[in-house]
Amino acid sequence: MTNQIELSGVNKHYGAFHALKNINLQIAKGSFVALVGPSGCGKSTLLRSLAGLESISEGDLKIAGELMNNVPPRKRDVAMVFQSYALYPHMTVEENLTYSLRIRGVAKAEAKKAASEVAATTGLSNLLTRYPRELSGGQRQRVAMSRAIIRHPKAFLFDEPLSNLDAALRVHMRKEIRALHDRLGATSVYVTHDQIEAMTMADHVVVMREGVIEQQGKPLELYDTPANKFVAGFIGSPAMNFIPGVVGGDGSSLEIDLGTVKHTLASNRQLQPSRKVTVGIRPEHIGITATGQGTFDIPVDVVESTGSATFITAATTPELTIVETGRGTARGGETIGVTIDPAQVHLFDDATGVRI
Ligand code: ATP
Repeated sequence: MTNQIELSGVNKHYGAFHALKNINLQIAKGSFVALVGPSGCGKSTLLRSLAGLESISEGDLKIAGELMNNVPPRKRDVAMVFQSYALYPHMTVEENLTYSLRIRGVAKAEAKKAASEVAATTGLSNLLTRYPRELSGGQRQRVAMSRAIIRHPKAFLFDEPLSNLDAALRVHMRKEIRALHDRLGATSVYVTHDQIEAMTMADHVVVMREGVIEQQGKPLELYDTPANKFVAGFIGSPAMNFIPGVVGGDGSSLEIDLGTVKHTLASNRQLQPSRKVTVGIRPEHIGITATGQGTFDIPVDVVESTGSATFITAATTPELTIVETGRGTARGGETIGVTIDPAQVHLFDDATGVRI
């Protein structure tokens, strides 16, 4: 598979601030890549560097095999789609769509034809004469995308395009964007701080923190084998439980400490006795049973149900979160038994947070 975008050894400094640290990333032609991470991790800086809106301080950036380090934005042949849509308010939908072609010297009739073709793909055919203020948020988002599509760019760069939409429309639009990407055979880079959006839309997820790529891979690879505690806590919702633990004298058990509850868990790993570890267990991997029947018992603090799922917070230190499908039977203030399958336990080095 050929790479449409390649970054090698990319660094970005804003004065004394080191915003991107030795970024190496290959984006295959036709793939949908999500850049995800907490606020300030550098994902927008990375995207803006691809667009040429920021210059990189060191390293190489190639698009379709060509070195782009010093190529100005308009010559990179990539299209940015922003959360603010950046539509021209005084132009109709059609004029918004044809504008970028017209300034490149495309004849009016040809530009109109291209606009009507793109509008048919994105479901805007009936809205071409409207002004942006006469459109819903989702429709504006589609205009913004159509405007990007009309230029047949080498890559689409999305900067949190759905953050201004309500929850239901976000879910709808993420499917729409992904379907459009597939239909066009596009290469897309998508910035979001929402890990669910990243997991559901992308083929390849890049998790960043403080200017560093912490891990990249297929969505479920990151969920199943997070490289470190940070990725483990970032991917998955509700977040993974982290419990302090020490490897038992036999090397194949884990003494976990939940404050009032202390327990020795069986482990399917052989590790150095007395080694300090962080035990990671996803909320959906803890089973519930009658007291005395499970791996150990815990006191329940709060129970919240959405109908389809029940979230249990245990009165332990740290607090344990458990997710049960359906309504569940646990009540606040009672004690329940929990079951933990050693195969579902993640282990991280206590000092470095790296997966063991
Ligand atoms: P968010 O989700 O909040 O948009 P982000 O991951 O996109 O965050 P960036 O916008 O890439 O983060 O910013 C990365 C870091 O670089 C931040 O700490 C930010 O303060 C810093 N930064 C961004 N632009 C500049 C600038 N022009 N000058 C100095 N520092 C900057």
